[in-house]
Amino acid sequence: MSYIVAPPAVASLPVVGGAQRFPVRRIFCVGRNYADHAREMGVPADRQQPMFFSKPADAVVSDGVDVPYPSATQELHHEVEMVVALGAGGRDLTPEQASGLVWGYGVGLDLTRRDLQAEAKARSHPWDAAKGFDHSAPVSALCPASAVEPGPETVISLWVNDELRQQSRLDDMIFNVPELLSHLSKLFELRAGDLLFTGTPAGVGPLQRGDSFHAELQGIARLDGRIV
Ligand code: MN
Repeated sequence: MSYIVAPPAVASLPVVGGAQRFPVRRIFCVGRNYADHAREMGVPADRQQPMFFSKPADAVVSDGVDVPYPSATQELHHEVEMVVALGAGGRDLTPEQASGLVWGYGVGLDLTRRDLQAEAKARSHPWDAAKGFDHSAPVSALCPASAVEPGPETVISLWVNDELRQQSRLDDMIFNVPELLSHLSKLFELRAGDLLFTGTPAGVGPLQRGDSFHAELQGIARLDGRIV
């Protein structure tokens, strides 16, 4: 097979304690999955149906790699989130079936051009430019579910310049991982290589050039980086 231009590289993430990498197919994200974050955004949390959006696979940035401050915004925001990596796929799945798709876990930032998102909401425009820009998805090395499973009391945290900005327990999520994947599988056929950002707790806020960030999914994953 020959191509008109060089085929794009496969986006991928490192795996904790291994030489192999996890290939990224799609990046799905859920909005408003923590009630306290929905409240700070001034919108009601929908407990019937999660709200999904996506980022391109090549928006991933690996642990330790600098993140360029994006163009066309004056308000880059952090949203720390648990990231679920799928090792298998399917569609129209029950939560029980969907839980079997999970290969591993990480922690990531759903970076957001908040000013463009507010404008998109006001004009009923799509969120792509607010959410799916280049380098908008820093993610830690992934930890296999066979090694450790997060529990309801697992804490997710984000520090910016050593100041704690966001912290929550996973049981503050409105929809848990099997429920999210079940809903998502009714909209899209899921495949191995897919990532799901599972939503952010309260405390989202601005990042500036020169800021360093440190995110943790307690006992499972760590992410460090810098905005440049
Ligand atoms: Mn988010």
